[in-house]
Amino acid sequence: MILHGYEPVIGLEVHAQLTTQSKLFCGCSTTFGARANDQTCPVCLGMPGALPVLNRQAIECAIKLALAVHNDPVGQSVFARKNYFYPDLPKGYQISQYEQPIVGPGRILIETQSGDTKTIRINRAHLEEDAGQSSHEGHPQSSKKSYVNLNRGGIPLLEIVTEPDLHSPEEAYAYLTELKAILQYLGICDGNMEEGSLRCDANVSVRPVGQEKLGTRTELKNLNSFNNVRRAIQHEIDRQVTLCSQGEAVAQCTLLWDVDTQTTRVMRTKEDSHDYRYFPDPDLLPIEVTRAQVEAAAATMPELPRQKYERFIDTFQLSREDAARLTVDKELSAYYEEVVAGCQEPKTAANWILAELLRDLKQVEGGLAACPIQPRHLAGLIQLIATDVISGKIAKEVFADMFQTGDDPELIVERKGLKQITDTSALEAIVKQIIESNPDPVNEYRNGKTKVFGFFVGQAMKATKGQGNPALLNKLLKQHLENQS
Ligand SMILES: [Zn+2]
Repeated sequence: MILHGYEPVIGLEVHAQLTTQSKLFCGCSTTFGARANDQTCPVCLGMPGALPVLNRQAIECAIKLALAVHNDPVGQSVFARKNYFYPDLPKGYQISQYEQPIVGPGRILIETQSGDTKTIRINRAHLEEDAGQSSHEGHPQSSKKSYVNLNRGGIPLLEIVTEPDLHSPEEAYAYLTELKAILQYLGICDGNMEEGSLRCDANVSVRPVGQEKLGTRTELKNLNSFNNVRRAIQHEIDRQVTLCSQGEAVAQCTLLWDVDTQTTRVMRTKEDSHDYRYFPDPDLLPIEVTRAQVEAAAATMPELPRQKYERFIDTFQLSREDAARLTVDKELSAYYEEVVAGCQEPKTAANWILAELLRDLKQVEGGLAACPIQPRHLAGLIQLIATDVISGKIAKEVFADMFQTGDDPELIVERKGLKQITDTSALEAIVKQIIESNPDPVNEYRNGKTKVFGFFVGQAMKATKGQGNPALLNKLLKQHLENQS
């Protein structure tokens, strides 16, 4: 990153598509992947005279988000018309919120790279309906015409806006990760950025370090993955710093991120920016969020990622990094807790999940939901190690088998004859044999070159096909090597 004494200032606007059954102002289904325009009606097609009816479930989602970001949503909130012309917006306006959003100021905590906790202030979160989609490829007359699909038009969105509290691409990434986790824990958005159910725009500016006043900002759009968010912000900071340090001005504009070239291009400048002429929608009454509604929502709030993160550190003595990695995904944290419940070995369980399981799951379509290893089986494997039935080395082999077959580890150990040899006399015979047939290393050891001890351990493991109890073998080797007689 080029900084030359400049400080980046970043604010994020995230659109989260809510997982309601029906759209925000009509009864049309929100299921993804239906035939184009099958999920439409006079309301979401914008027919004259059709009247919107508010979906109460969307309000409940917004109240839950308010509670999660420490905002009190009790009070009035108003829907407004945001007027603009676009082919995929048949009404000529989008129903959104302007002056009185449903969620006001709040905050989200993130972990920075230096290991500190940082508060990111939320400016607001408002409800709005999604627009339809234009498509320009794959149709009979694509060369001459654009095609419009209005299935998405009217699906509820929460637009969540931060204050400009983020100061690096990494902080933006950490914030998005935390927000996505919150939405998923609340069960109000699936958080899938690639499918468009979570969309992010970034406002970026730079200013000389120590200056209070913000620099001219640009808006970045089309950031459709977590990595694109990080790369696009990085690219834009570098561009602005280069301009400023050459004494040139940054022009206010909206930029599109081009994934293929990893650069931005100008979408519109300040001159052609929209005037949306917001005004309260006369077809919709103001919403009154009551104390009773908020209390009812509070009673159904799940444990949030941050709370779980702190509990994992306190209860299981996990490192901050492991706790963060395990709690970023609700399903993964549930899997982990099931494994711990089955083996009472929280640290070992974290190691197996974060190293072996996540590595192998990368090859599995469907991820954790399609995981071939049941939590109780992984717990069983960990217990087999803890009770010295198998060594840690053999356990890796058993794990690989479990991942292939989904079998119980005890059955695998039985089937393959992998039980650890803990019979002292059997191991002692092997140790004696090794010492007899390796006089040179034995002499080296006895003359103080104790480094060769590793060689003997290797030989013993080889002789027992990895099944010798390591602690016992170590003890026997030491005994016999140090016994000069
Ligand atoms: Zn509809």
